[in-house]
Parts: sequence; C-alpha cells; structure tokens
Amino acid sequence: MFQETERRETWVENVERSRVLVVEDEEAYVDALTVGLTKEGFDVSVARNGAEALAGFDECDPDIVLLDLMLPKVSGLDVCRELRSKSSVPIIMVTAKSAEVDTVVGLEVGADDYVSKPYRIRELIARIRALLRREDIIRAEVGRSSSATAAEGGDDVEEAIVVDDISLDASKHEVVIRGQEVSLPLKEFELLHYLMANAGRVLTRDSLIDRVWGHDYVGDTKTLDVHIKRLRAKVEVEPSKPDVIVTIRGLGYKFDRQR
Ligand code: CA
Repeated sequence: MFQETERRETWVENVERSRVLVVEDEEAYVDALTVGLTKEGFDVSVARNGAEALAGFDECDPDIVLLDLMLPKVSGLDVCRELRSKSSVPIIMVTAKSAEVDTVVGLEVGADDYVSKPYRIRELIARIRALLRREDIIRAEVGRSSSATAAEGGDDVEEAIVVDDISLDASKHEVVIRGQEVSLPLKEFELLHYLMANAGRVLTRDSLIDRVWGHDYVGDTKTLDVHIKRLRAKVEVEPSKPDVIVTIRGLGYKFDRQR
C-alpha cells in the first residue's frame, strides 16, 4: 500500500535496518526525506494522508513514525491518538514553526518528540536516532530484568546516563548524585530516568504520567507533583530553588542541568 524502499538487511552485521514511516503530504518533503533517510541507512515507507497511515500501519510495522500535523483526511493529531491507543512506536510530530500550541497538543496526545518546519534533515535524523536508542535501552532493560541472574558478568547492554554531576545507570538501578550513591523508589527512579534521557527538553505533565504510570493511569496530576517534589529533595542543591528539575509553567518539567 505504501511507497516503500526495499526491505533488506545490512550485510555488515546482518542487522535489520530501522524502518521509518513518513506521513507527509508535501511532495518536496517526501522526496527529501526518502533520499536523506535512505542514505543514512533507514528503510522508508510513505503515507500521504492520515487515513492511509492508519490503514497501513500494522502491515508497515515501522520502528518510528514521522508524522506531519497538517494532513488531508485525518489530522496528524487524530493519527497520533489512534496510533497511541494500540502502539508504543516512537512518534515525532512535525509542526509549523508559527504554531507553538500545536507542539504542546502533539506531545499531549502522545508524540515523543517534535520538529518544526522548515527543519534540517541532519537534525531530524539525530532526533530519530535518539528516540530509537532510547527504545533500545528500554528493551534492553526489560530483557535484563527478566534474566537478571544469567546476565551477571555479561556484556554491558547500556551505558549510564550522565548529565553534569548526576549519573543514572538503569541496568544496575543506580543513581549517583554529586559523588553520593542515592537509593530511589521505583517510580522516582523511572521519572528521573525519563527526565535525564530527555535532558534539555520540555516534557509535558501528561507525557511524564504516561511514561511512568502508564496510559491507563486514572489518578490526578498531584501524584506527579509529589514525585517531582521528592526527587527535588534528592537531586537539587537547594530544593526550594530548583535548577535541575525546573517547572515550565503551563507545560510540565525539564531536566535542565547547565552550570
Ligand atoms: Ca502537511
């Protein structure tokens, strides 16, 4: 159904290439993305409107979706909502530069990241790689915890995330803050992990809740605020004047370590 580049394996390591589903109606972007992504080693599928994207998603089975917001037939927001109801595939929302509000709504309906048009292909590819890497980390964690004893002494599947004077090693469930190992309850740990993996980016309250408590979480956002407060008590030098986990008014939080 989609226009597809050939599905193939890289001969180097026999690893299957990552497939990007490009949902885009502007021909110039379709062409540039197909060429640019293919050159960088991705397989590319193209859907030219929202309805086509939804109809062919299962068969395409992409590793990541690049989703334009302004689409014919079914809007990018509705496509995003629909995909999120059945899949955790990473989604990058593409918005118009002028419409900051779209970005927020896009993140709220479940997109993992966003870029604004016009964008540089190189920047976009960096974002795609970052999201795919995070997916790998999450999968590696799941694999490791389900075979925890067998994995001891094995290869390190994941590098610790280090941002300034705070480091987090998910495979060992270890957090070191200014040289001190700190023990965190599971949800605080997951929250910090997600914030650090996205250091420098604003994460909406809803996306934080979805990631840490799950899409079906029915409590209110107080839970999140309380966890943020607890985390701040541990990671901030001065918890009353947070500068590591900062509040972005009306939006959410950002891990912002830059001193
Ligand atoms: Ca468009």
